[in-house]
Amino acid sequence: MKILIKNATIIDGTGSKPFEGDIRTENGKIIDIDKSIKKSPGEDELVLEAKGNFVLPGFINCHVHLSLNASTHPMNDMGKTDSYTLTLQGAVIAQKILNAGITTIRDMGSKHFEVVAIRNAIKQGLVKGPNIICGGQALLMTGGHFSGHEVNGADECIAGARKQLHSGADFIKVMATGGLGKPDEIPGAQELTFEELKACFDVAKRAGKKSAAHAHGLEGIMESVKAGVSSVEHATLINEEAMDLMVEKGTYLVPTFAAYWQMAEQGKAKGVADYMIKASRWVMDEKMPRFKKCVKKNVPIAFGTDAGSPINPHENLVEECKCMQACGMKPMQVIKSMTKNAADLLGISEAKGTLEAGKDADIVILHKNPIEDMEQVGKVKTVIKNGAII
Ligand SMILES: [Zn+2]
Repeated sequence: MKILIKNATIIDGTGSKPFEGDIRTENGKIIDIDKSIKKSPGEDELVLEAKGNFVLPGFINCHVHLSLNASTHPMNDMGKTDSYTLTLQGAVIAQKILNAGITTIRDMGSKHFEVVAIRNAIKQGLVKGPNIICGGQALLMTGGHFSGHEVNGADECIAGARKQLHSGADFIKVMATGGLGKPDEIPGAQELTFEELKACFDVAKRAGKKSAAHAHGLEGIMESVKAGVSSVEHATLINEEAMDLMVEKGTYLVPTFAAYWQMAEQGKAKGVADYMIKASRWVMDEKMPRFKKCVKKNVPIAFGTDAGSPINPHENLVEECKCMQACGMKPMQVIKSMTKNAADLLGISEAKGTLEAGKDADIVILHKNPIEDMEQVGKVKTVIKNGAII
């Protein structure tokens, strides 16, 4: 299929100024992106008139759980649901994600290997959905936060991480600290030790893969960064020393505000458990001022919503955009965090993340200007993935 998008305002994902132009795609790739416009379409080209519209790279959400259903307690629901059903449920969610203009996601841990199956089925064209970078099961200590593959001691971490990669994971996800899953949990408490974290990340590195650490507490954040993780998720109690180290090492921060903000603001009305609302308010109060400093210090930031967590639907990007803006990020910086930066973190920059000739034709067309109003990110006109209109 060949597509010519005409007369669009192009936001190419690099962070540079929007410009007027046309984009040509062929066989799933962008073949031409032109500021000078005015070229006549070929006979076999599908023309999309985009005057007044805004064309961006397909969005990338770096923190998604296809196996969580965004109910008031998705972790309990996942625990009660078998993997076969989770696979089908995730496939339905994947379609919704793609329809929202999110053409790539990083899945941050499933119950078993259901998301590996969904990723493969999408690649084979059996079902529709975004490109998936899949973490398999998270590695966690016995009794630790979330769900996945339990590991204790460096040897088990090595074996566990190898098992994930062997089973089809694209990167290694670890739980470095507690979280908000149970009433008696301390979100900031360190769980995996430095030696365990390093063992996991080293397995990923040796295989040429990335890694990610869930970490709310400072010790878990710091030790993950020192042990060589590619991204820290949440980072609630981050301090300036950790920020500086992340800048120095190029470690990404994926803040994931949306879940906590929604639970803090709307949890009561929607029936979320009191302990989770309380913990969410704590996260927001601690994280907002710290994240403002991260923005000022130019810590590398990639976009992630923790989609699927309580009352946090997978297709929703706007809340996260607004929280990032409230912490001092400019709309263009937010867009860059969900395009170029996200692709860099996921290790797919050669093919995705910006609108450039030679890259995959993953494109989203918005009705209006997201720079003026970030709500527009949620108002999608057309989605193109690998050169095909969805
Ligand atoms: Zn998560």
